[in-house]
Amino acid sequence: MGHFARLDHAGLPDFSAGSVWLVGAGPGAPGLLSLLAYHGLGQADVIVHDALVSEAILAFSRPDAEIIQVGKRGGKPSAKQDDITLTLVEKARDGKRVLRLKGGDPFMFGRGGEECAALVEAAIPFRIVPGITAGIGGLGYAGIPVTHRDTNHAVIFLTGHDDTGGVPQAVDWGAIATAAPVIVMYMAIKHLGSIADKLMAAGRDPFDPLSIVAHATLPHQRVIETTLGEAGMLQATGAFPTPAIVVLGPVSGFRASLDWYLDTLRENGFG
Ligand code: SAH
Repeated sequence: MGHFARLDHAGLPDFSAGSVWLVGAGPGAPGLLSLLAYHGLGQADVIVHDALVSEAILAFSRPDAEIIQVGKRGGKPSAKQDDITLTLVEKARDGKRVLRLKGGDPFMFGRGGEECAALVEAAIPFRIVPGITAGIGGLGYAGIPVTHRDTNHAVIFLTGHDDTGGVPQAVDWGAIATAAPVIVMYMAIKHLGSIADKLMAAGRDPFDPLSIVAHATLPHQRVIETTLGEAGMLQATGAFPTPAIVVLGPVSGFRASLDWYLDTLRENGFG
């Protein structure tokens, strides 16, 4: 308890009534929350969260806080983005301290920018609390550094689908395939076969290592190591748990020596 008492004096900002905090919850393990996220959860009147955010993280909220889940779960359709922003605006106008909690970082494939735009339009004050994104922190828990001086001086972050639900149309696959040795893919499992085909058609080596990290940072984290050429076939077997982050490129190779998140370290569930 002692270190939490010290937190009260750390000059952390007040959560003012009628404002919204857009908070990244990190990839899953509660220990990866930022101090600001933890501080905000302890004050919020209303928490509007996505399905990916775990119960263990929601448990940091006030017992009397109103908890609203808006993400997809159990095959039910997700709340429409307009309804989500409307909820944020209405609750803030009611004078509530509204915490919008998203998996990972709110500005990494998280529609955080859209929600902020709606808050700006409604003249609601807000704050961004960045989170650890799955494509960096999640890979770290698999012993995969997203950059390494021996392998890559650049990284691409790619989403596996766009608004239409299909493989992103607005992506220049030829450029993506060759621009950086490492491509980190979010939401890519559903279309992994066709993404792999597009990258190989654009000249990417089928023997390029590809790792899939599912439930990253959680006690049931699982890592599958394969190659770009094999990924499509493996996907067809339906063997991939989700959510999962995919990393293509030589950094996967470091896992052989850097894997550290062993079963014995997963016991307390905090990370
Ligand atoms: N804003 C989030 C990403 C939202 S998109 C972030 O910064 O991490 C949702 C995708 O994130 C999932 O499809 C998956 O690719 C990835 N993801 C989120 N949490 C994950 C986890 N614990 N393990 C693996 N992938 C995860």
